[in-house]
Amino acid sequence: MKKVILLGLIITFTLLLAACGSDDSETDSSGNGDSTIYTVGVDVTYPPFEFQEDGEMKGIDIDLINAIAEDQGFEIKIEAMDFSGIIPAMQAGELDIGMGGMSITEDRKDTVDFSDPYFESGLSLVVAKDNSDISSMEDLEGKTIAVKNGTTGANYANENKDAYGYEVIQVKDSTSMFQEVANENADALLEDYPVIMYAIATSDLELQVAGDKLNGDNYGISVLKGENDELLKKINDGLANLKESGKYDEIIEKYLGE
Ligand code: GLN
Repeated sequence: MKKVILLGLIITFTLLLAACGSDDSETDSSGNGDSTIYTVGVDVTYPPFEFQEDGEMKGIDIDLINAIAEDQGFEIKIEAMDFSGIIPAMQAGELDIGMGGMSITEDRKDTVDFSDPYFESGLSLVVAKDNSDISSMEDLEGKTIAVKNGTTGANYANENKDAYGYEVIQVKDSTSMFQEVANENADALLEDYPVIMYAIATSDLELQVAGDKLNGDNYGISVLKGENDELLKKINDGLANLKESGKYDEIIEKYLGE
């Protein structure tokens, strides 16, 4: 008899536990936790910020947004796309968060809200390793310069085209842009300084930076303007917590060393 009572107790207890479990997830979906899965759009290839390795997305942006999501208790799904497609996909309601070494610019602030800045960047002029003719924008008269669609580099190139007298070739990603110079279809390209320094240090690209940085800017995490204040607050709170805990530095060091 005792055994039967004990068995009964165990079954009741197990059922109670199961009920508690399902209660928890219901609480989540009813709004106490955040059960939404936020879709994060990133550049298709932009090492060290995002890149594929062994079939997995890696990089500073990927680790940062995962750590922010973990800290703030929300789920994310990463989607890689051409950089120029990120903001339009947010406008079309297909993405909740935009990353991709995205510079905080006044123009973009018309359509997106940015998080607090998380990385200092800026543009560099880049030429072939054996090119000693071009060391500044002044040397680009009659030359061709490759840029990536929708980037600050493309804007800079188009704005200064008439002043310096060069042609602009627009391509869809950084790999194609590097290829244009390697194949001598273009004499120069514009790329973010940390990205080109990383590319030169980690691959056998025959490229070099010409002259000083052209400008300075900061990367931010973006959400669609005016509609995502709560999500933006979580992103900023998470970012602040990662900076305070040392996790932010750990992520940067993992990809860039000290
Ligand atoms: N930082 C540049 C921009 O925001 C380039 C970004 C990129 O190529 N992924 O336009």
